[in-house]
Amino acid sequence: MQAFQFTQAKTVEVALEPGGRFVAGGTTLVDLMKLNVETPRSLVDINLLPLDKVEAAPDGGLKVGALVRNSDLANHADVKARYAVLSEALLSGASPQLRNMATTGGNLLQRTRCYYFRDTVYACNKRRPGSGCSALDGFNRIHAVLGGSADCVATHASDMAVAMMALEATVHTKGAKGEREIALDEFYLVPGTTPDKENVLEPGELITYVTLPKLAAGTKSHYLKLRDRAQYEFALASAAVVADVSGGHVRRVRIALGGVGTKPWRSKEAEAALEGKAADERSFRRAADAAMADAKPLRDNGFKIELAKRALVRALTVTTQEA
Ligand code: SF4
Repeated sequence: MQAFQFTQAKTVEVALEPGGRFVAGGTTLVDLMKLNVETPRSLVDINLLPLDKVEAAPDGGLKVGALVRNSDLANHADVKARYAVLSEALLSGASPQLRNMATTGGNLLQRTRCYYFRDTVYACNKRRPGSGCSALDGFNRIHAVLGGSADCVATHASDMAVAMMALEATVHTKGAKGEREIALDEFYLVPGTTPDKENVLEPGELITYVTLPKLAAGTKSHYLKLRDRAQYEFALASAAVVADVSGGHVRRVRIALGGVGTKPWRSKEAEAALEGKAADERSFRRAADAAMADAKPLRDNGFKIELAKRALVRALTVTTQEA
């Protein structure tokens, strides 16, 4: 394997080679290389690129460089004040040491914690297309109830991406065909018959930054994560809520769920069920029912459906109480 630092234009060509990969914090990629799950032919270190700033965006929103570390983003004054859901989601993830290394771009691209994916003894369509899915008939307590297919039911692991989904973030990239902007809602792919393809990035295309839109005055947000232990654990179910409430009614709400979907799961069904309705428990429960209406449980994870509903009701309650 070859290793390069991304300081000269020629290193872009290396990254574009088949099997070439970018590395920043390394908290997913290096981990998976040690397990022989990821076997890149070459690595391009992008840590010297000037993408480590959080800045005001021209529209009043926020521009977050792809190399901004998770701990810096979580503790940024503007993020804490205006995008609490994002700060809370970041601080609920991993450990302080990992958050000090993990980057914004890398977090968006982190890979599933499905134990069969991470152990090369087992068949896994995501790791080796066409080999089968060990989770379908295996132990599938942590797997997805939304967005799964006959080829893969792995959940997406990121908390940050769930919060960004509710914030309607945009991903900015640079690749061989130039620059582009991708709404986060259109960035991730459900597994279908190609679970190895997790997002719309082309080979060698680099995430450069993420933008968050300006929120209407009075908008509040919250992230709630439910898991087996209080620290250093992935979500069994989580809910991100961004809500604008006025006169006891929900004017506008954006909802995303984690731990239950094959990608960070935006629920437009729940949003539609709630907008214009009273901000009360009855409405919240209806929204939660709408969010999980299409859920399909596997043998061991049926509990996630009610867990996700309760997470969403609670997150909505906390958000609107503060509003
Ligand atoms: Fe692999 Fe997906 Fe099946 Fe897990 S759920 S074993 S990642 S194909």
